[in-house]
Amino acid sequence: MSQLTSRRAFLSARTLREDTDAIRPPGAAVLGFGALCTKCGDCVPACPEGIMTVDADGFPVVELNSGSCTFCGACAMSCATDALAVERLPDWPWHAAIQGAACLSMRGVSCRLCQDSCDHGAIRFRLQPGGRADPLLDLDTCIGCGACAHVCPAGAVTFERHANHQSEEIQ
Ligand code: SF4
Ligand code: SF4
Ligand code: SF4
Repeated sequence: MSQLTSRRAFLSARTLREDTDAIRPPGAAVLGFGALCTKCGDCVPACPEGIMTVDADGFPVVELNSGSCTFCGACAMSCATDALAVERLPDWPWHAAIQGAACLSMRGVSCRLCQDSCDHGAIRFRLQPGGRADPLLDLDTCIGCGACAHVCPAGAVTFERHANHQSEEIQ
C-alpha cells in the first residue's frame, strides 16, 4: 500500500469512528459525519439556545452542560450538506447519566435540581439511610435534552449514547 493510499485509508477509518464520543448536533449523520461536514460553521449561530460550538478540529458540537436542546432543528436546517438533516432529528442517540460520585444528594446534601428541571419526569429519587437520596434516571423517558445537566451544581450529569446507537456507530 502506497503512503498516500495508506493515509487515505487511515483518514477514512477515522471519519467513521470519530463521532463515538462527540455530541454532534441533532440530525447528524451517524457514519461519515467528518466527510460530509465542511466545517463552515453555519449551524453554530443558527442555534437559538446558544449551546453549540466547535471542537478542536472545527466540527460542531452541542454543549449540553451550557443549556438544553429543544430539538428545534434550526441547526440542521442551516446545513447545506447532508452532515445534518432534519429527517434524522428523531435519531438523537444521547441520554443523560448521573455520576454518583459527584452527585450532592448521594452524599447527603439536599438537592433535587435535576429532577425539578426535567419536563419529562425522567428523574426520581430513592431515599437512603443517613439523609441521602439516590437519583434514578429512566432511560426510556429521558430524551437527552440536557436541562438537568445545565442546572446541576456538581457537574454530575454526563451523556452517554444509547446502546443500539453505539453498535450502529462501530459497524
Ligand atoms: S436542535 Fe435547536 S436547540 Fe438543539 S442544538 Fe440544534 S439549533 Fe440548538
Ligand atoms: S442536580 Fe446534580 S447534584 Fe443535584 S441531585 Fe441532581 S445530579 Fe445530584
Ligand atoms: S436529559 Fe432532559 S429528559 Fe433526560 S433526565 Fe435530563 S432533563 Fe430529563
